Amino acid sequence: MMGTERKGPKAVAMAARGLRRWLACLWVCLWAVMCVSWPTVGWGLDVSMPQEPPEPPSEALFEAPSMSPAAPLAYKRPTCEATAENPVCVTPTMKETLEQARSEGFQAAFSDVVGQAKTYLQGIAPDSRKVVVVDLDETLVSNLPFWEKVGVYDKACWSKWMRSPKVGYYNAPVRELVGWAKAQGFSVMFITGRSANDSAPTLRDLNDIEWDGTFFRPEGNDVRSQPFKAHVRQLLRDLGYEIVLNLGDQTSDFDLPIETSQGEFLVPNLIYAIP
Ligand SMILES: [Mg+2]
Repeated sequence: MMGTERKGPKAVAMAARGLRRWLACLWVCLWAVMCVSWPTVGWGLDVSMPQEPPEPPSEALFEAPSMSPAAPLAYKRPTCEATAENPVCVTPTMKETLEQARSEGFQAAFSDVVGQAKTYLQGIAPDSRKVVVVDLDETLVSNLPFWEKVGVYDKACWSKWMRSPKVGYYNAPVRELVGWAKAQGFSVMFITGRSANDSAPTLRDLNDIEWDGTFFRPEGNDVRSQPFKAHVRQLLRDLGYEIVLNLGDQTSDFDLPIETSQGEFLVPNLIYAIP
C-alpha cells in the first residue's frame, strides 16, 4: 500500500520528463525540416526567399558614378527619388535623355564598359563552374522602344511591354560578350528583377541565345532589388559556383562599392534608377 503511494508521484515525474523529451525532439525535427527545405532554386523559373517589406531607398544608391574613369563622356544617372509605390526612378527630362541614349557618344561609353568587362574575363581560365552574371533590362536587353513610346514608368504598360514579342532587342556589345563567354566555356546566368509572372515571355525573347540559368523575382515578392539579387548570387555560391563577372546597369545589381578589380562592371543607364 505504502509502495503504491510512493510510485504515484514518481510515475508522474517520469511521464513529465518523457513529455519534455518528446517535445524537444519534435522541435529539433521541425527546425531541421525548415533548414533543409529553404531556400530553393528554380532554374529559369523563380527563387524562393522571404518577403521583406520595402525600405526607403538610400540617396547614396543614386550617387554612384555612372561611368568608369576611362569612358569618353561623363553621363549622369537620374537623381530623382524612388518610392515604395513607384520603385522605378525615371528621368524627368525623357526627351533629351532619349536623344542622349541614342547618341554615338553614349553608345561608345556603353561599349567601353563592356569592353573592359571582356578584357577582365580574358584574364580568367574558363570553367563551367565559373559564372558570368548578367542583368537583363538595360544591360543585355534594350527597352529604348518602350521609353520612346510611353515616356513614363507605368506598371500596366510595362507589364504589357514585357509580354509583347521582342526578339533581338539586345544591347549589341553585351549580346556579343554573352555569346563569347559561353563559347569560351564559362556559365552564363541572368539575374533579373522581372517577376516570375513574366518568365514565359522573357524566356521566349531569350530563345536565340545560349545561357545556363535565369532567375526571376518570385511572384508577389516586393523585396528590394539589391537584397534580392544578392540573395541569388549567394545561392549560386552555396551551390559551388564562382561568380567571376557581374554586369549590370544599376547599383542595386551589386554589393556596394562596385569593384571593377573584382569583375564588377556598371554600364550606364540615363533613363531610370532602381534602388
Ligand atoms: Mg537592369
